[in-house]
Amino acid sequence: MKYVSTRGDAPVLEFGDALLTGLALDGGLYVPAELPRFTEAQLRGWRDRPYAEVATGVLADLLAPTIDETELAALVERAYAGFDHPDVVPLRPLGEDGWLLELFHGPTLSFKDVALQLVGRLFERQLARSGRTVTIVGATSGDTGSAAIEAMRDREGIELVMLHPSGRVSEIQRLQMTTVDSPNITNVAVEGTFDDCQDLVKALFADRALRDEVGLAAVNSINIARVLAQSVYYVTSALALGAPDRRVAFTVPTGNFGNVYSGHLSRERGLPIERLTVATNRNDILARFLLHGEMRIEGVEPSLSPAMDIQVSSNFERLLWEVLDRDGAAVGEARAEFRSSGRLPVSDVVLDRVRAGFGGDRRTDEQILATIADVHDRHGVVIDPHTAVGVGVGVDRELGGDADVAHVMLACAHPAKFGPTVERAIGRPPELPPRLAELEHRPERYLTVADDLDTIREIVRSQSS
Ligand SMILES: *Cc1c(COP(=O)(O)O)cnc(C)c1O
Repeated sequence: MKYVSTRGDAPVLEFGDALLTGLALDGGLYVPAELPRFTEAQLRGWRDRPYAEVATGVLADLLAPTIDETELAALVERAYAGFDHPDVVPLRPLGEDGWLLELFHGPTLSFKDVALQLVGRLFERQLARSGRTVTIVGATSGDTGSAAIEAMRDREGIELVMLHPSGRVSEIQRLQMTTVDSPNITNVAVEGTFDDCQDLVKALFADRALRDEVGLAAVNSINIARVLAQSVYYVTSALALGAPDRRVAFTVPTGNFGNVYSGHLSRERGLPIERLTVATNRNDILARFLLHGEMRIEGVEPSLSPAMDIQVSSNFERLLWEVLDRDGAAVGEARAEFRSSGRLPVSDVVLDRVRAGFGGDRRTDEQILATIADVHDRHGVVIDPHTAVGVGVGVDRELGGDADVAHVMLACAHPAKFGPTVERAIGRPPELPPRLAELEHRPERYLTVADDLDTIREIVRSQSS
């Protein structure tokens, strides 16, 4: 499969190069040039098959010819062997409310593992083939950091420098990152906010000389490989609930629009998805857009679901490209206007096309706490605050709807990662799974530095040499 940039002005790449490039040179994001459709026979053949086998089938055409199907099957098998549930991403019934799709059974207990456990292996394989090395630099407000560290630790050809805002990630999230004892991992606590960390990363990427010198690479969700890997669990869950003979609606807790866009890809390939509902917290730019038709930026406010505290959802550009009929210049103009005026210019035609595929709504912090308590009371299930955003929106919109449509709500993190919030809602802390309980006794390794570009640049340089 070839990959093209959403701005239309960067080299067309095979999968392996799109994987290592991340952001396209014209500032756009890579997208598959075509989307091979699932055949009915394929979908039926994947029913009741193990997750790794379906993942190989779903991804094979998209990763060829970089990786052939036999090699892909081996990589996928290893990526998901470390998940602590035989189904990898099990479905849990929530009575008449629908189904929870539990995406938090990987090593760091958030859905980021589903993509990154595979992406880490793809990176290592691709670097070995090309004889290259990379330095991955990222900023995290919590879940991405630990998932990336766990995916990249001890891998050949990869150095990883992860920035987090000092004192502003939860203790469990910090321990998950800083107790990993691996020579290719460097944790940096920056005296500043998450936005300061992101600005530092952007400034490093803007430094062309450094980019070439250390082979800078990114593993945030602008990387197309992550989006592709996430498209698999839409297929497995829909098949488990009766597809292709039954339609399925998904409600997706959303920040950067990566997860829900992955669902859209599977729908475009022919999976019978009735609806994709974008659930946001108080940082509701996408919900306001889908409800009222206007995309206007406001400041980011901290919420009880911090992984979704985002206003500019980078992956939305991939959908924009599609609804603007793949006109890269138009995408670039719309983005530039959004940046300068704070409003995305969209015609009614474009808006109708987006709304035909996506619904949306928002949840306040009070509603998040109420949903955690309600799901615990009615179903005896403890959910995390991100999942609660999706369940709150999903139940509100889908309950009492078409009985022929199955309703799936994505559970994106284990509740133990957000203990204090869960305790506020249900009066007791969530149980700590063994993977988290053992962290407290391990030594931590991290540097604490000022919010200063030169200092960070020196750290990146010294790690890569
Ligand atoms: C990353 C994350 C999200 C947001 O996902 P996007 O792909 O950015 O929309 C939601 N919940 C949790 C727990 C996350 O870690």
